[in-house]
Amino acid sequence: MAQAFYNLTVADTRRVSPSMHQITLEGDALLDFPQDQDGGYFKLILEPGSEGQKALMRTYTIRRQRARALDVLFALHGGHAAGPATSWALEAELGDPMTIRGPGPAKPSPSACDFYLIAGDMSALPAISANLERMDRSAKGVAVLEIQHEEDAIAIAAPEGVALRWIVNPEPGLHPDLLVDALRKIERPHGTLAGWAACEFEAMKKLRAYLRDEIGVAPANLYTSSYWKLGLNETEHKVVKREDAEVQTA
Ligand SMILES: Cc1cc2nc3c(=O)[nH]c(=O)nc-3n(C[C@H](O)[C@H](O)[C@H](O)COP(=O)(O)OP(=O)(O)OC[C@H]3O[C@@H](n4cnc5c(N)ncnc54)[C@H](O)[C@@H]3O)c2cc1C
Repeated sequence: MAQAFYNLTVADTRRVSPSMHQITLEGDALLDFPQDQDGGYFKLILEPGSEGQKALMRTYTIRRQRARALDVLFALHGGHAAGPATSWALEAELGDPMTIRGPGPAKPSPSACDFYLIAGDMSALPAISANLERMDRSAKGVAVLEIQHEEDAIAIAAPEGVALRWIVNPEPGLHPDLLVDALRKIERPHGTLAGWAACEFEAMKKLRAYLRDEIGVAPANLYTSSYWKLGLNETEHKVVKREDAEVQTA
């Protein structure tokens, strides 16, 4: 999908839960943005590149798109900002400018599977929410969602047959077994399984090993991605992510 730059402004800023902050970006530029991109992603351009210096960018999910506005949810890092993106979100004021580049494609759950195993931490809550909203209303499965505070359990319009299990971990990234341990406890019916997981790198590796290697979710029905890595900023995480992808495809 061709990506372009869009100059937008902050139209709304509000805390939706103790560890999640929402920013609404708006602008006529979005009239040229591809439509129907809920769950897709884009880059926030926090500092433009200059000679010999790359732009400072961070990746976020389009939680909800309207004709000339995008809602974006920023997971705070243990309740506060830890990097330039989360700092910007917490300090943004109405009318502040922000340039974005995008969109990148959404990764929806595959259709027509018998049972869905979904897992993610707060960084993936926007993508999982968008996916669950769009899933066939007859879908069955479980979504295990790691949050930092019990009040981070935001409303999600999931199909009735997809149970939401919330796991509270006030130390994001420090307990990488939590999500996979929760998935292991789920009783799976016979039939075609689908797996979708996005979260911190170490937790993602454990989920991938379980979904792909242990219970054999078919590649076509499986999506796993690390959205961040404990102790690394996004630029450093991307290097580790690329190396991991090379090992997986070797
Ligand atoms: C496709 C995709 C979509 C994403 N969508 C979203 C989204 O919609 N909402 C969202 O909140 N995040 C999302 N992320 C994750 C987000 O890009 C990273 O969390 C990013 O590193 C945050 O940037 P930062 O500038 O705040 O921190 P950075 O400068 O990148 O990192 C600073 C420090 O914070 C730590 N850190 C980074 N992220 C987290 C976290 N989530 N929890 C705890 N500590 C953290 C790092 O390990 C590092 O030590 C997405 C990532 C990808 C790949």
